[in-house]
Amino acid sequence: MYRKPMFKRQSGSHRRTLQKRQDIERGTAASRGYGYQWQQYRERFVQEHPYCIACTQNPSETEVIDHILPVRQSDSDSATGVADPLFFARWNHQPLCRHHHSQKTKQHDQRLASIRDQVVQDLEIDADDSDHFIRFRLLSMIGLWTEWIDLETGEVYHS
Ligand SMILES: [Zn+2]
Repeated sequence: MYRKPMFKRQSGSHRRTLQKRQDIERGTAASRGYGYQWQQYRERFVQEHPYCIACTQNPSETEVIDHILPVRQSDSDSATGVADPLFFARWNHQPLCRHHHSQKTKQHDQRLASIRDQVVQDLEIDADDSDHFIRFRLLSMIGLWTEWIDLETGEVYHS
């Protein structure tokens, strides 16, 4: 069942302090591979998708671009960070508010990291498939959200 997200808007300065603390805990954005190219990409993506895909009742601004299937971490043998093919795969990105990003990370990322290669295989991505189409199939397949907003039409989907 979909439950309305319960959270208070944070003031700008509190948010910045929080961000700073998170950066210290996780390493700076640059050290995690989120360099200039990502910042440029991020700016455009947020402009095109200003609202959280999971806030279907009350729109919330996009605060995070989430990698739906988690990017490989540096402890992996395969390509990690920006070198991971799923890092810049547009179909693997969804705009989220901080609330939904935190919820998704805590509740789903471990499971998604363990099944991601199988999911990519099952997606059977064709070169002609649009990012929008692949993202829709992906979200339907992994059952991440009960309801989410279609990034092109603004319609609400139910899984
Ligand atoms: Zn949200």
